[in-house]
Amino acid sequence: MMMTPAVEAALNEQMNLEFFSFYSYLAMAAHADSLNLKGMARWLQIQAHEELEHAMKIYHFLLQRNASIQMRAIGEARSSFASIVEIFETAYANEERVTRSIDDLVTLSIKQQDHATNTFLQWFVSEQVEELSIVDEALQSVRLVENNGGALFILDRDLGKRTNTGEPDGEST
Ligand code: MG
Repeated sequence: MMMTPAVEAALNEQMNLEFFSFYSYLAMAAHADSLNLKGMARWLQIQAHEELEHAMKIYHFLLQRNASIQMRAIGEARSSFASIVEIFETAYANEERVTRSIDDLVTLSIKQQDHATNTFLQWFVSEQVEELSIVDEALQSVRLVENNGGALFILDRDLGKRTNTGEPDGEST
């Protein structure tokens, strides 16, 4: 069954938003690196790569469905932050935006009776629960240690140990 134009447009928009998330996390990682917070930079780079994987999942799904792919301009990512707390606040706000967007896409797939897209999107619904959870956990940790150099040093080292892929069925950080 052909994808409806509305679903096709919305999936392309979602792919663009995932590329933007990739871009945003890379900017955050660069900022952390500039503060010599190498562990945090690594954590944010891993997160960035996950966003690239999300975009590519949608890309391949669109190809499989013989839908058109539109590589629109990626929004400019914020590159400077007043504090490390602001980095993770920005990340959390971005994840909330992505979650709303996925939820809207699920609603659209139901209205358009596109069951294949609906099933495809279920992975993203679970993934967003995981994303909000790990970013919130990092945000709370950064808030706790913000003004304590020794504690920040330890947190940075811990964040740098991240190896998980963040898959919904994988282990949390
Ligand atoms: Mg994503």
